[in-house]
Amino acid sequence: MQIVRTVQDLRARTGAWRRDGLTSAVVPTMGGLHEGHLSLVRFGRTKADRIVATLFVNPTQFSPSEDLDAYPRDEAQDAGMLDDAGCDLLFAPDVAVMYPSGFATRVVVDGLTECLCGAARAGHFDGVSQIVTKLLNQAQTDFAIFGEKDWQQLQVVRRLARDLDIPTGIIAAPTIREDDGLAMSSRNRYLSETERRIAGALPAALHEMSLQISRNTPPEEASSHARQVLVDAGFASVDYIEARTAETLLPITRFDPDIPTRVFAAAHLGSARLIDNMAVPMTGLD
Ligand code: AMP
Repeated sequence: MQIVRTVQDLRARTGAWRRDGLTSAVVPTMGGLHEGHLSLVRFGRTKADRIVATLFVNPTQFSPSEDLDAYPRDEAQDAGMLDDAGCDLLFAPDVAVMYPSGFATRVVVDGLTECLCGAARAGHFDGVSQIVTKLLNQAQTDFAIFGEKDWQQLQVVRRLARDLDIPTGIIAAPTIREDDGLAMSSRNRYLSETERRIAGALPAALHEMSLQISRNTPPEEASSHARQVLVDAGFASVDYIEARTAETLLPITRFDPDIPTRVFAAAHLGSARLIDNMAVPMTGLD
């Protein structure tokens, strides 16, 4: 796997693939790689002939109070994992390549970014929209793979690609979980042993809530029950745990089995803020 650090070198490789009649997909990451990220590379391999992963801890999606400096960074380890997973190319630019002096353009997606994590993390999705727009334009691949783990991000990316006529096909890949159901995340490494045991309550609460809603428990009732379950389990605070329509992220007052619906949660445990989401079964059955 070759590592490139400039847009020129990146485009030279993806352009050569295109000229050779090969399709390609980009897998954007911030590093701290785990099996969830690698699954995107493997999933991408089933959709495209060549995979380019990107590794960039994007400062504009962190607020001043967040964990930018503490974010895990080990390029050599990440590169080794990507290579083993069958990645063809790694784009790992410096901040100065992505945001050269004089950079002044923002990308703001309205609506979808105002709820859930957008409400708790001011400016986060503006930073995500900015960097994803750049990465898609830089890589010029046929496809881009994003994890369902960050469902709101996935919807924001789909929206901006559509609105800005970016020709890259956006593909969603399923969430990879630990044995107890905890969604894999770079932030799980911030958890102590005790916190790690508690963390399994998050997917369990979401699962239970999704079943309750599919069996017509009023969403608000299921949500306040799940919030209490998380607090009782030992979570320090819950930013949100609620049901929304899957594509438009609108709150629901009653489950409609004809409208794809998901449950979403973000909660604090120790120094980590964990997020997760799941589909509400359409049939009301497990
Ligand atoms: P990040 O490095 O956290 O920005 O994530 C990079 C990509 O990996 C995003 O598309 C995430 O949705 C995806 N991702 C992160 N964790 C998982 C997981 N457990 N399962 C599947 N995809 C994931």
